[in-house]
Amino acid sequence: MRTPYFLIDKERIENNLTILRRVMDDTGCKILLAQKCFSCYGLYPLVSNYLAGATASGLFEARLCREEMQGAENHIFSPAYREEDMDEICKICDHIVFNSPRQLALFGQRARRAGLQIGLRINPECSTQEGHAIYDPCAAGSRLGTRLKDFEDSISHNPQLLSLIDGFHFHTLCEQNSDDLKTTLDAVVDKFGKYLGMMKWINFGGGHHITRDDYDIELLERCIVRMREDYSLQVYLEPGEAIALNAGELHATILEIQPMDEYGIRNVILDTSAACHMPDVIEMPYTPPLQNAEILSLNDYEKHSDESNIYRLGGPTCLSGDVIGLYRFDHQLQENEELVFEDMAIYSMVKTNTFNGMPLPDIYIKSSNNNELWKSFDYEDFKCRL
Ligand SMILES: *Cc1c(COP(=O)(O)O)cnc(C)c1O
Repeated sequence: MRTPYFLIDKERIENNLTILRRVMDDTGCKILLAQKCFSCYGLYPLVSNYLAGATASGLFEARLCREEMQGAENHIFSPAYREEDMDEICKICDHIVFNSPRQLALFGQRARRAGLQIGLRINPECSTQEGHAIYDPCAAGSRLGTRLKDFEDSISHNPQLLSLIDGFHFHTLCEQNSDDLKTTLDAVVDKFGKYLGMMKWINFGGGHHITRDDYDIELLERCIVRMREDYSLQVYLEPGEAIALNAGELHATILEIQPMDEYGIRNVILDTSAACHMPDVIEMPYTPPLQNAEILSLNDYEKHSDESNIYRLGGPTCLSGDVIGLYRFDHQLQENEELVFEDMAIYSMVKTNTFNGMPLPDIYIKSSNNNELWKSFDYEDFKCRL
């Protein structure tokens, strides 16, 4: 197997799906795959054995669900739709969620005539994550979701809008536990509670880390049951990460180990790149877990300068910031050695790029100790995008 490559573990995906399915069975909620996180459609038939369907960020993802996940519910949300996409969206989607009353006024009747369920994304103005504004749709100045004031202004000018809405959608979490969901739901009820009785469903969005070991599923289920009992609402959840959490690896090879730098640390150049193959490492930022190695803080050079087996891993691109992280290994690294980054199924394959002409990693699917090549990329994949 030529590095770099992603290796997606079908069994681990299935373990995650089993946990999610249990939540559906316990509560009657419906769970959808957020495709933007994990679009490995070779496994969509497996996903649809467990979940109710998928959600899309736009027409292309909605098409992918329609083509590859037969019989599944197809949901779509976009901050703003393009007029020329509407006919096809109406043909292939079951639910459409609008971001604003204005979008609803523009396209709502058309979607209604086509028989779609119609939702409005609300902004409960309840931040539960600190210091992570790029992942917080409730941050000040957010363009995502309709605030109560704007909602009420709109329906007072145009009362018919309210009758177009079948459900509310909120998405405010990122890698969070159900205590933050409960806080958010309290805010939703507090602000929008008087409208909930007119709805058929409510969509809790994504960001629920349901398949993480310390996730409080019981509290999640209480939140779902509360909406069912108090307002007779069908509840939808649309996690991405929870489906593919800890279910994939990125394998890479050491190309070069440099002499010690002024901190006494060696740079290692890999055949994978943070900028091209795991951009969240730089965007979020975070340091990905690595097999047989311990993550160190990049800023703590001085602390480690007298230790051996500490390496700074980086990519072969032009970007000086193309650094994956600082790691302590249990052995001295060798050139040509293979390294394995973990938890690489989520927000990775969907975000790769070919900056610097970097080859895209191949994708393998592992099932019962058999690694099957699912996608292979070459020069043409680089060239055709330029
Ligand atoms: C990103 C997103 C999701 C999925 O989020 P995860 O953090 O991957 O669970 C679901 N719904 C919406 C609207 C999103 O933007």
